[in-house]
Amino acid sequence: SVSHPSSLALVTGGASGIGLVTAEVLSKAGFNVAIGDIKGYEEKAKELSQKGLTVKGFKLDVTDWDSCRAFVSEAKSVFNSDHVDVLVNNAGVLKDNLFVKMTREEWDFVIKVNLYGAFNMTKQVVEDMMRVGHGRIINLSSLSWTGNVGQANYSASKAGLVGFTKALSKELGRYNITVNAVAPGLIDTAMTKGIPDKVMEKFMERIPLKRKGSPQEVAEVIAFLASDRASYVTGEVLGITGGLTF
Ligand code: NAD
Repeated sequence: SVSHPSSLALVTGGASGIGLVTAEVLSKAGFNVAIGDIKGYEEKAKELSQKGLTVKGFKLDVTDWDSCRAFVSEAKSVFNSDHVDVLVNNAGVLKDNLFVKMTREEWDFVIKVNLYGAFNMTKQVVEDMMRVGHGRIINLSSLSWTGNVGQANYSASKAGLVGFTKALSKELGRYNITVNAVAPGLIDTAMTKGIPDKVMEKFMERIPLKRKGSPQEVAEVIAFLASDRASYVTGEVLGITGGLTF
């Protein structure tokens, strides 16, 4: 067990892409960081620890209530804390298809991870945050929340997170808990590796900054929202899109 008095931040889906870099940036900012993921969590946490950062990895399936409960209680116990200071609901999946071809499985899969996942995790931390009178919840929405072709499931989940963010910000503000979302555009991670060159060219024409964003550029905004510098920001959806709009 680690016993310095740093604040505790949890990052779901923290073994890859945006979540992994967020874990790194938050730990460099002084947080104890617990990453939870269905895979890769041990190895990635080890890599960050070897860089001298205070990061631990835990097995987590955000679609499973008991798994979320175990993750939060183990993370608090390992870092000797009775509450979580920052929750980053980052775990997310895609299963694109045109709506006429979309199966119920494809719909359920995306809604369960992206939307139920945020519900399951947030329920585990919110009462402690209310008790201590402090908390930061940051949800990974997406520019796709505004509606994107082939992403009825994903857009619905990401728009759901916008409503979730805004409702919670109103319920929890009196406890000094801020709830915000970030809405990245096209970010260079595993999730966007499969986009065909032709489609990518079309995107580039429409992105004012003429490039993909890096996971680092998203992590920096998340870390800002987690910091004291953002103490009067709540209920916001911050675009990180290089200027792209759908
Ligand atoms: P990624 O695929 O690199 O990382 C997602 C991580 O979530 C993976 O490590 C995966 O194992 C984990 N995960 C999946 N299902 C899980 C589950 N049930 N429980 C726990 N962990 C699970 O993707 P990324 O690009 O880093 O995406 C991170 C977040 O950012 C997602 O919510 C995504 O929707 C959002 N986002 C990404 C982009 C982009 O362009 N990459 C754009 C907008 C929003």
